[in-house]
Amino acid sequence: MILKEHRDLLRGILNLLFPPRCVCCGRRDTWLCDDCGMNLPRITGPTCRVCGQPTKGTQVCSSCYTSPLRIQGIRAPYLFDGQMRKAIHKFKYKRARHLAEPLAQLLLEYLDANSIDFDAIVPVPLHEARLAERGYNQSQLLAVELGKALNKAVFAECVKRTRPTQAQMSLPARKRFDNVRGAFQCTDKSLSGSRVLIIDDVCTTGATLEACAVALKRGGVSSAWGLCLARAILDYR
Ligand SMILES: [Zn+2]
Ligand SMILES: [Zn+2]
Repeated sequence: MILKEHRDLLRGILNLLFPPRCVCCGRRDTWLCDDCGMNLPRITGPTCRVCGQPTKGTQVCSSCYTSPLRIQGIRAPYLFDGQMRKAIHKFKYKRARHLAEPLAQLLLEYLDANSIDFDAIVPVPLHEARLAERGYNQSQLLAVELGKALNKAVFAECVKRTRPTQAQMSLPARKRFDNVRGAFQCTDKSLSGSRVLIIDDVCTTGATLEACAVALKRGGVSSAWGLCLARAILDYR
């Protein structure tokens, strides 16, 4: 086990070797400076109270009205746009694992202001082929930071991606639910009866979170919410 002092020392050495710079503006000594953090594109205006997608003012979007979701709700504080898109891109594809902490901090701020009841945290899993290629699961890194800060257990192994799926971003909205339906399986019943918060970096239709929630509910969880950093907007519903 690594002691906290060792972790702090290691971090000190890493900071000397690779001095932190704001992911957005390049300012020194921080991975995300206060100014840039405040200027990230927040979601404002009416959103669907189930899937969180911006609406023209209705409480529930047409999609959730016609095809109700099994997940309790999906929330995302930011738009997948501008500097948030840039930060997530670096975090996910450019090996910027150190961004997990400042990005998880943004989720913590959201949870501070918007209460969601949960007992445990589950990151959306990657398929093992994708995990091998990337070397880490960005959603798991966010979940671990969140778990540390909130003193909640993170269950990264209880949901598995049972088959590779096409990247959701490459598909039209109507195909996304089909692409991930049944792609997850809850392989561990230890969360039976628990209220779970599922973490992902980006969502669009919510299809991936919904498929995870369905698997967790089959595994006996009593409720599942989804929380993402950012939402890519398809259209208004
Ligand atoms: Zn900055
Ligand atoms: Zn909706």
